[in-house]
Amino acid sequence: MDSKPDENFIKKTFPGPRVPSLAPLPLLRGQKALVTGASSGIGQAVAIALAQAGADVAINYGRDEQGADETENAARAAGVKAMIHQADVSKEPEVQGMFRDVIRAFGTIDIVVANAGLQRDAALVDMTLAQWQRVIDVNLTGQLLCAREAVREFCRRGVRREVSVAAGKIICMSSVHDMIPWSGHVNYTASKGGIAMMMRSIAQEVALQRIRVNAISPGAIRTPINTPAWGTREAYDDLLRLIPYQRIGEAGEIGHVAVWLASDYSDYINGATIYVDGGMTLFPGFSHGG
Ligand code: NAD
Repeated sequence: MDSKPDENFIKKTFPGPRVPSLAPLPLLRGQKALVTGASSGIGQAVAIALAQAGADVAINYGRDEQGADETENAARAAGVKAMIHQADVSKEPEVQGMFRDVIRAFGTIDIVVANAGLQRDAALVDMTLAQWQRVIDVNLTGQLLCAREAVREFCRRGVRREVSVAAGKIICMSSVHDMIPWSGHVNYTASKGGIAMMMRSIAQEVALQRIRVNAISPGAIRTPINTPAWGTREAYDDLLRLIPYQRIGEAGEIGHVAVWLASDYSDYINGATIYVDGGMTLFPGFSHGG
């Protein structure tokens, strides 16, 4: 399959994001949020959605400074404070420095969305240790480091009744590949499967401190990470065979879920994974017999 994006197909099929047009609700007013990998795709949309819900947002990025600037401008347009912090989430001192910086600027942090992630795909027999290690370091260890710093801050500060009944909320960006095996991506699936148990174990450990830890597992969302899966008609038709709802998802739709999961509307949800996938995890191969 030719995976080079077909610009004509893309323009015709996706004239613009097709997120259901719902007015933002001010569910997070007064809260402070940090979103990692917020310079593009899902992280960018989540940071903007949190800002539109009233949270001040810290925008972490790895390399794409211009993307981070775009996120910051969109967040400020929503009338909240926004700041940018460059850090590689797989590096402990950089993550600790980022939390220090954001807490100094905002006073505290109430919401952490550990979203940064990447793929280094290869068949198992060709996969180098470096490819395995990089994906585990960023996708899994990066989330652990962010969760640990978040829990330290939430415990230090306790509940801020004026903004939320919880002391803090952590949202781990996982994937449907925390439960759907994916050949050629063993490093990626291992990292996302690891997030599932890491998230639930942390949720169990810190529930008494009134900290909620949950995950969002997106299916196919139209972002730069997976252009080969939707960038040509053949690829898109192939993809739709996996999605009962018969369309790719948009990053803003993950933003809607993140806002709700960070708000007190979901206060009794702890240690859960929310699949946002148009039914991809419904085993669509079985929809006609089996
Ligand atoms: P993306 O490539 O657009 O965004 C990834 C972001 O992570 C970028 O901002 C990138 O700069 C950042 N990043 C990568 N390595 C980093 C590092 N070491 N330190 C800090 N930031 C780093 O991809 P996306 O689709 O928006 O993916 C975001 C998350 O959603 C990832 O965890 C991905 O696994 C997950 N996800 C995406 C899809 C999808 O269909 N797009 C599906 C399931 C899960």
